[in-house]
Amino acid sequence: MLGVVIHEVGHNFFPMIINSDERQWSWMDEGLNSFCQTLTEELWDNKFPSNRGAAYKITDYMRLPKDQLEPIMTNSENIISFGANAYGKPAIGLNILRETIMGRELFDFSFREYARRWAFKHPTPADLFRTMEDASGEDLDWYWRGWFYSTDPCDISLDSVKWSNLAQNENQVTSSTSLQPIAKPILNPYDDISKIRNREDKTIVFATDADKSLQDFYWKYARGMVKVDTTAATIITPAVTDTFTTEQKNQIAGTKNLYELSFSNKGGLVMPIIIEWTFKDGTKEMTRIPVQIWRKNENKVVKTFVKDKEVASIKIDPLRETADINEGNNAWPSITTASKFQLFKSRSGATRGGATGAANPMQREIK
Ligand SMILES: [Zn+2]
Repeated sequence: MLGVVIHEVGHNFFPMIINSDERQWSWMDEGLNSFCQTLTEELWDNKFPSNRGAAYKITDYMRLPKDQLEPIMTNSENIISFGANAYGKPAIGLNILRETIMGRELFDFSFREYARRWAFKHPTPADLFRTMEDASGEDLDWYWRGWFYSTDPCDISLDSVKWSNLAQNENQVTSSTSLQPIAKPILNPYDDISKIRNREDKTIVFATDADKSLQDFYWKYARGMVKVDTTAATIITPAVTDTFTTEQKNQIAGTKNLYELSFSNKGGLVMPIIIEWTFKDGTKEMTRIPVQIWRKNENKVVKTFVKDKEVASIKIDPLRETADINEGNNAWPSITTASKFQLFKSRSGATRGGATGAANPMQREIK
């Protein structure tokens, strides 16, 4: 009920004030409004069970056969899965832009600028796309093309890992710089990167904390479900050029480990590559590589990393923020994921529109 109230109030803005043509482009009101709905829900309660925020929530839709998919940029009358196509995919697409591609500050500035410029006017999709690029100064054409005009999913595969010690007088090394702490990757299915960042942002006060009378059944229910691991980890932004002097190279020679990672783009949609390293001593690191790594070759990339410690395992997209439809090829050594049958068995309860008549958590509690 809270989600629906938030959603319908949001329509005052999209599409009523920023007045897009909902008959032609349903996603411009339902998608943008569902995105704002999720932002609002997650400021209401850090554990709000939002359905159209986290990237991994759209993967079931995006791995459907192509004849059951249309691009978001499709006239509303021609869409098969209306909820996923016009609400979920555009809303989650904006969330990926905000959390993973542009960053919150740049995204929020640009999205506000779109709303400000087009209030009481009639924007088309191109007006949104152009304003986001114009206000941010970022080239996002690749993203509009991939996420809004195509049905290609993200499926980045970690094909191979080669390991060696750095030889004496090695000429080519890649340095790692710019350490900053982030929360450890989350370990349960009820959390996502937006919720983690909201918790870390000390300027945010959740409505259910500010006013305790708002702590209803679902607030208590969510508290029982979620176990949050807040152990700190480290994020590393790799430098692209060789910055070591010969003296430094000689100092590190023989003590460093080189890891050459080969990736292939099996889904067609390019995305940033996010790597979680787990070392043999149990510590972890995160490396975030911008999407431009695919610029010269959108099918395959190879990148080498230098590590002090020996790596025990590698995981791609550990926070599930790129909507990668096949997590089975995201790890080294490779891991086995649950089969579709196991996944099906592990699911319970009905979603909106599922029409199974299954009770929701509050109904089950009352019985
Ligand atoms: Zn709506």
